[in-house]
Amino acid sequence: MFAYWGKILRVNLTDGTIKEEHFDENFAKKWLGTRGFGIYFLLKEMDPTVDPLSPENKIIYTTGPLTGTTAPTGGRYMVITKSPLTGYIAMANSGGFFGAELKFAGWDAIIVEGASDHPVYLYINDESVELRDASHLWGKTSTETEEALKEEIGDKRIRAALIGPAGENLVRFAAVMNDEHRAAGRGGVGAVMGSKKLKAIVVRGHKRVEVADRAKFTSVVKEKTDKLRNDPVAGGGLPKYGTAVLVNIINQNGLYPTKNFQYSQFEYAEEQSGEAMTAKYLIRNKPCYACPIGCGRVNKLPTTGVTEGPEYESIWALGAHNGINDLASIIEANHWADEYGMDTISLGGTLATAMELYEKGLLKQEDLGEEAPPFRWGNTEVLHYYIEKIAKREGFGDKLAEGGYRLAEMYGGTEYFMGVKKQELPAYDPRGAEGHGLGYATNNRGGCHIKQYMISPEILGYPYKMDPHDIGDEKIKLVILFQDLTALIDAAGLCVFTTFGLGADDYRDMINAATGWDFSTEEYLKVGERIWNAERLFNLRAGLDPLKEDTLPKRLLEEPVRNGPNKGHVVRLHLMLPKYYKFRGWTEDGKITEEKAKELGLDEF
Ligand code: SF4
Repeated sequence: MFAYWGKILRVNLTDGTIKEEHFDENFAKKWLGTRGFGIYFLLKEMDPTVDPLSPENKIIYTTGPLTGTTAPTGGRYMVITKSPLTGYIAMANSGGFFGAELKFAGWDAIIVEGASDHPVYLYINDESVELRDASHLWGKTSTETEEALKEEIGDKRIRAALIGPAGENLVRFAAVMNDEHRAAGRGGVGAVMGSKKLKAIVVRGHKRVEVADRAKFTSVVKEKTDKLRNDPVAGGGLPKYGTAVLVNIINQNGLYPTKNFQYSQFEYAEEQSGEAMTAKYLIRNKPCYACPIGCGRVNKLPTTGVTEGPEYESIWALGAHNGINDLASIIEANHWADEYGMDTISLGGTLATAMELYEKGLLKQEDLGEEAPPFRWGNTEVLHYYIEKIAKREGFGDKLAEGGYRLAEMYGGTEYFMGVKKQELPAYDPRGAEGHGLGYATNNRGGCHIKQYMISPEILGYPYKMDPHDIGDEKIKLVILFQDLTALIDAAGLCVFTTFGLGADDYRDMINAATGWDFSTEEYLKVGERIWNAERLFNLRAGLDPLKEDTLPKRLLEEPVRNGPNKGHVVRLHLMLPKYYKFRGWTEDGKITEEKAKELGLDEF
C-alpha cells in the first residue's frame, strides 16, 4: 500500500498498554484518512452517549494519505473525539509540522483511550513508543511545555501536540496546540486530553512516505502548486496579508459581526485589518509544512518579543465581536489564548455573550466581583483580565470556562448566545450570506465556517459568484457539495485554503498519484459524503434532535440586519432546511434513511 503505513498506534492510559494495529487498502479506500478514520473508530468502538470528559471517551489523532508528502499543504492532522462543548462529534485539524512528523515516524493514526491517574506524555520515536511522567510539565504554557520537552528529550527537532493550562483545567473550549501557535482549536478537544491527564504527544520520525509513482506524483504536485501560486487569493492576498486579508473585504460586504451580531459592520475594521497588521507588526510569514501559500504570520508582540497570528477569526472574535478596536490588545490576547491553549473563536464568543448579558442587566457587577473589569463593549481590560482567569478557572473565569451557551443559561439569557449546537459562531454574519447560514445550522460540529466555506461563492466568487441572498436549489446543493468536498480535503490531509486555486479534480489527481488508485472525482466525493453521514450518525446516536438543533440563533432568523449592505435581511433557514434534508437523502426530520446508510456502507454500524 502506498501513501499509508497501514499502522495504528493504540494507547490505553488506564492500564498503560501500547499496541500496534493494522488496516488494509480496502479500509483506506473506504475512509481515506483523518476524519474518515476517526469517525470509523468512534462509531465502531464507542458508545456515543458517553460523558466526553470521562475515560470512556476516546481521542484519536489521524493523518491522511497526503500528510507528510510534498503535496501542497500536506501537513495536516486531525483530532477526533466527542466534544465537551457540544456533546457531539469534534474534529479539529491543524497545520504546522506535527502531522507530517507523525507520518515520518511510521504511524497513520493514534487512538488514545482510558485515563491516567497522573500527568503523562506519549513519546514516539519511530517504532519506539513509551509513556513518560509529565507531572513537572503540568501547569506550563504551550511554549514552556514545548521547550521543556525539547530540552528533556535532547532533540530540538521533535514535534509535539500538547495542551496548556486551559486543557488541564477542562475549559470546554480548550485547544490542542502544536508548533507553539498552531491549534486544533474547535470543540474543546484540549479538555479531553486534560481529562485523560495527557499533557502531550511528542513525535520524531525518520522515514519517507512512499508514493506509487514518484515521477508522476512530483509532476502532479508541481502542476497543482503552480495553480495555487497563480491564484490571486492563494498566491496573492493570503501570503501578503495573511487570513486577516478578509477583515476589510468581509466588513465592506456587511458580514463582519459586531457586538455579538447586533451589527454587521464595524467602524474600526480598517484599523485591525490584515493591511494594518502587516504595516505595523509583521516580521515575516510562517508557512506550515509543504505549504506554498504561507498565510501564517510572525508578528511583533506589542509588549515584549514576538508571537504568531492572530488569524482573521481571532482578530474578529477578540475584536469587533466584543466592540474592541485596539489591535495591540488583540494581538496580545491572541498570544495568551495560544499560550494557555484555548480556541479563540469560542473564547471571543463567550466574552461577547457575557458583554451582552451585562448590557441587558442579566449579569451584574456583583456577579463578577468588585475588582473585576466590567463587561462593557470595547473594554480591553476584559481581554487582559479574563483569559488567564478562564484558563485557571479562577473567580468568574470558572463560569466563562463553560462556554457561551452554558453561561447564558446560568443567567437566563440563552437568546444572547450566538452559536449552533452550543458552539460559538465564527466571523461571518449569515444574514449576508444565507447559504453560509445553512452551512452553520447543519454543521456536524456546531457553529463552524470551515467545513463548508460558502463565503467562497457567496462573497469571494469561488468557484463562481452566487447571489448571497439566493436560496434556490442550486445553492442548497452547493452547501452539500462543499460539506462533502471539505470532508474529502480534510481526509486527504490538506488545508482547505487550497480551495482557492484547486477544485475536486485536482484533489483526485493528487490522491490517485500518491496511492496508485484510479478513483474518479465522483468516487472521492462519495467518500466525503460517507464521512459527513457517519459523523451525522454519531451525533444522532449521541442524542441530536435535528429539528430543534439544526438551527441558528433567533437573532439571525428574526432580527433584520441593522446596518450596511445587508440591511433588512434575515436568514430564511426554514425555506432551505427541508430541501437540504431531501437533497441529502434523509428523512423529513433530518435522520439518515436505511437506504442512504446502505448506499454509503454505513450499515456495518
Ligand atoms: S494556507 Fe496557511 S494554514 Fe493552510 S497550510 Fe498554508 S500556512 Fe498553514
